[in-house]
Amino acid sequence: MISALMPNFSRADVAFDHGQGPWLFDTNGRRYLDFGAGIATSSLGHGHPHLVKAIAEQAAKVIHVSNLYRVPQAETLAARFVAASFADSVFFCNSGAEANEGLIKAIRKTQADAGHPERTRIICFEGAFHGRTLATVSATGNPKYLAGFGKPVEGFDHVPFNNLNAVRAAITAETAGILIEPIQGEGGIRPADEQFLHDLRATCDEFGLILGFDEVQTGMGRTGKLLAHQWIDVEPDVASLAKGIGGGFPMAALLAKEHVAKSLVPGSHGTTFGGSPLACAAGNAVLDVILADGFLDQMNEVAAYLHTALDKLIARHPAVFTELRGKGLLLGLKCAMPNGNVQTEAMKQGLLTVAAGENVLRLIPPLIINRDDCNAAITLLDQTASALAKTTETAK
Ligand SMILES: *Cc1c(COP(=O)(O)O)cnc(C)c1O
Repeated sequence: MISALMPNFSRADVAFDHGQGPWLFDTNGRRYLDFGAGIATSSLGHGHPHLVKAIAEQAAKVIHVSNLYRVPQAETLAARFVAASFADSVFFCNSGAEANEGLIKAIRKTQADAGHPERTRIICFEGAFHGRTLATVSATGNPKYLAGFGKPVEGFDHVPFNNLNAVRAAITAETAGILIEPIQGEGGIRPADEQFLHDLRATCDEFGLILGFDEVQTGMGRTGKLLAHQWIDVEPDVASLAKGIGGGFPMAALLAKEHVAKSLVPGSHGTTFGGSPLACAAGNAVLDVILADGFLDQMNEVAAYLHTALDKLIARHPAVFTELRGKGLLLGLKCAMPNGNVQTEAMKQGLLTVAAGENVLRLIPPLIINRDDCNAAITLLDQTASALAKTTETAK
């Protein structure tokens, strides 16, 4: 008999009862260091008093009213994103895939409004991940995720990552824009070259294309800036945010420059739940913390400390780990053995991580971790590597 929960996820046999900071406690009382953060989502860790209070207080007042009315919490949050980013205007929704759907529609609509309704195609990249709806899974382009679902949604052309010649060769009279993750997350923590992002901006300007950044995973402080592209001097026309934006509360945002945002006139796009008082209370509480003076500086210091410690870890265990990738607290350890085995052993030792493409083990802890938490993670990774070396020895 099928389980009551649909079988589309393969879940580890553990359930968590509560959490505190970067720690999660399972229903047997065992504690785990959470370096997965619910897939880069629980940005403030668990039980963060400011976030908990904001959600509880707003829930007691009013949870949802719909977008038929003004939502002051959403107006405030949008204004804060506008002040802190390239964007002139913000649309709130509920998931990364939904934000990317809005991004894709906004790119097409902007071109149509500019007199180019034929421009509907978007150039995407091999190894990308943009979500699981029909359009975003087509933008993702991974054959494994598309299998069995019929013809992919039309309008996405995939080219190799970090390859400008391939991008330029793929541009046709129907091309509307380019969509890229500044660092591919699910794809294996693969950073786009800085020069490549500059070249994409110049190419978009040259051909009248719209540049979209998928910052669903890289955004909200994860790389040490509010948005990953703020490390370099390149601005997109439109960007998607989700994952960490609500600190675990489901929420997402589409940030856009005016020339793109103005295409979404009344009636052109919508969502019932998006930007509710409750979601925006969570979003505002997360921004209170992340944008507080010194928070990201502190996080970058801790991240630098962790990077050094991970480099040393790799040197101690070359049979398990081969390379450190990523920026800030969006990190990947490339593994010398199947990353699933390393993830499973790490969990046995009490460390939660997330697998990614290219045989990478993702370390994406809450942004509030300190040096002691890093030391605890390194100890658990040392134990993990030693245990794996032992099993490999026994197998010989
Ligand atoms: C997780 C992710 C998505 C999809 O987000 P959902 O909330 O699962 O729909 C899209 N893009 C990137 C880069 C992601 O990491």
